[in-house]
Amino acid sequence: MEQNFDICVIGGGIQGAGIAQAAALSGLSVALLEKSDWGAGTSSKSSKLIHGGLRYLESFEFGLVRESLKERRILLNIASDIVKPNWFYLPVYKNSQHKSWQLFAGLSLYRILAGRKNLAGFKRLPRAQWKQLNGLNTADLETVFAYQDAQTDDRALTRRVALSAQSHGASLLCPATVISAEKTYKGYSVRLNLNGDSKTIYCRYLVNAAGPWINPVAKTITPTPPMVDVDLVQGTHLEFTEQLSDRCFYLEAQQDHRAIFVMPYKGGTLLGTTEKVFSGNPDQVNPSPEEIEYLLEVIRYHFPHFNHKPIKAWAGLRVLPSGDKTPFSRSREVQFAESENYLAIYGGKLTGYRATAETAIKRVIKSMGLEKRRRVQDSSKVDI
Ligand SMILES: Cc1cc2nc3c(=O)[nH]c(=O)nc-3n(C[C@H](O)[C@H](O)[C@H](O)COP(=O)(O)OP(=O)(O)OC[C@H]3O[C@@H](n4cnc5c(N)ncnc54)[C@H](O)[C@@H]3O)c2cc1C
Repeated sequence: MEQNFDICVIGGGIQGAGIAQAAALSGLSVALLEKSDWGAGTSSKSSKLIHGGLRYLESFEFGLVRESLKERRILLNIASDIVKPNWFYLPVYKNSQHKSWQLFAGLSLYRILAGRKNLAGFKRLPRAQWKQLNGLNTADLETVFAYQDAQTDDRALTRRVALSAQSHGASLLCPATVISAEKTYKGYSVRLNLNGDSKTIYCRYLVNAAGPWINPVAKTITPTPPMVDVDLVQGTHLEFTEQLSDRCFYLEAQQDHRAIFVMPYKGGTLLGTTEKVFSGNPDQVNPSPEEIEYLLEVIRYHFPHFNHKPIKAWAGLRVLPSGDKTPFSRSREVQFAESENYLAIYGGKLTGYRATAETAIKRVIKSMGLEKRRRVQDSSKVDI
């Protein structure tokens, strides 16, 4: 096995896979190291939406929404068999926090930010069509909007990106747990447990894309690199065998006005998600009974006839900036921590992985002083 690389990327989630792909496309030798399985972390526990994030307009994250909508268009092109458009129905009730005029304004802005030929249309459903909405509770219902976004299989997407990296020359190592890393005069030596064996590999540049494990991994590096102060926020989903609809619903939780999605999933239904600050070992995140009850209350309120039991519940961890705001109102923008020959990627969205990878690899190439010799190849035309 090769022992020397330009770059080692720790973490085979969507961010690590994206960065490995961008590095390989730029002609750099790269090793992608994953301790468990491709996409086994947060990248298989998301809501599986490739979306601009309508609700981020409320927190004025226009740049994030515009970039995500652009990435949505690209992914619909380069991964059309696993990124599919769908309609989302958004009911507005008398007691909804967001009023019809506000949602109309938000959807209009969403359409503008998406640009032309990018699933941009939305409509108000005539009252006569409400009864076709899979038993949606129509008591005190004022308006139903319909707009488009996209769904994917997050784990499959991550695998595809990792395989694309491999096809462009990246070395994929799994199961490969990074135990520690030490700065040398040339870059880093990285100690691994590779398939049960101890192994050391060397790289000029180290990328930490370990998702919720990012700071525990950073603490195993000598000297300790800069870290961003973050909270881990768990989000639970419930899976049902019964299909509520082949369309998606964007609901406002009656308990606390948060956004909840109901989506078709593997012939059944996926419902999520929650936000609960997590402190503990990211390997041991589990849905709590309160989260499950909260989600069941939301679906029972909106679809009183849908009284099925979920067959599965799982939780994933968001990496969000720490602070006093509720998790729901904290920024979803990606953050970087950087020092000599080291870059760490905090947070971000599944949807934006390609743009994040491009930004990251530009920083890496600049910091390695390779700008004259390596050009970042545009991955927006590379099918995955
Ligand atoms: C509940 C929830 C819903 C979401 N919904 C959406 C959505 O609908 N759309 C969207 O765009 N985004 C969504 N997101 C955000 C998105 O899922 C995440 O931003 C993204 O998956 C994070 O990817 P990552 O690669 O940073 O982390 P991860 O996928 O967690 O990858 C990190 C990897 O590092 C590995 N690792 C850790 N330690 C080591 C080590 N020592 N050695 C080797 N490997 C190691 C782990 O095994 C893991 O595979 C959601 C997030 C959550 C939590």
